[in-house]
Amino acid sequence: MTETDVRRGVVLITGGSRGIGASAAVALAADGWDVGVNYRTRADEAERVVKACQEHGRRALAVQADVTEADQIERLFDTVTAELGPIGAVINNAGVVSPSGRVAEYDAARLERVFRINSISAILVAGAAVRRMSTAYGGSGGVLVNVSSRAAVLGSAGEYVDYAASKAAVDALTTGLANEVAKEGIRVLGVRPGLIETDIHEAGRLQRIGTTPPLGRPGKPEEVAQVITFLASDRSSYMTGTTLDVSGGR
Ligand code: NAP
Repeated sequence: MTETDVRRGVVLITGGSRGIGASAAVALAADGWDVGVNYRTRADEAERVVKACQEHGRRALAVQADVTEADQIERLFDTVTAELGPIGAVINNAGVVSPSGRVAEYDAARLERVFRINSISAILVAGAAVRRMSTAYGGSGGVLVNVSSRAAVLGSAGEYVDYAASKAAVDALTTGLANEVAKEGIRVLGVRPGLIETDIHEAGRLQRIGTTPPLGRPGKPEEVAQVITFLASDRSSYMTGTTLDVSGGR
């Protein structure tokens, strides 16, 4: 059963098979969206998310695509549009962390991987979203929500400064693109999650530092999903270019 009578249109979420993306997909369905759930490898997990979205009375579809490949991003957007209808919101969520290490130890392959997924893919996905939603391209407007990280501000010394830098690029994307497309019917917003209970962390990390945020605990994916859902909706209609921290005060 749906929890709202509001129909909000179609949302596409990258990396929707697990963690924050999976929670966001279900929360968006509960808020009235039909949901395109992108995943890279975990088809079973993506199908479980699709079923959970459908339980809210919405249409949902899992689409495999590696967002590091521009042609796969195009296929992803085209498939969701063909199956569910014109896209009205995009959640730019897929991302990876680097293994723990000091800057002095990084090699080029490590940096190319983390920047390729977190920064380059995020900008490519944003471009694909603008080409579908912008009134300058014949679209009807929409919302882009970029999933950054509190690391972009804190810097992640001794852990993954490269990851933090790759997410700082996402914050700049939110600021710049918001100004670029504000008059084309698109709002661009961001969230900076703190320590959230997902599989992204190295073994033992959450246990080691999970109580360090002022709120004394790690966050749950659902707590980030609620903020993403708010930003994607018209409840945030006078916001653009803003990135919200969802980090327990850390
Ligand atoms: P997660 O549990 O590891 O899930 C990552 C998701 O991204 C999965 O759905 C995965 O798909 C997908 N993905 C990874 N690379 C992809 C690619 N090349 N193409 C398409 N999909 C890809 O991670 P999470 O913790 O939910 O993180 C989600 C976002 O929040 C990331 O951008 C992350 O940097 C950010 N974030 C997380 C935290 C935290 O504490 N968890 C904090 C700050 C920011 P498969 O399932 O198919 O592998």
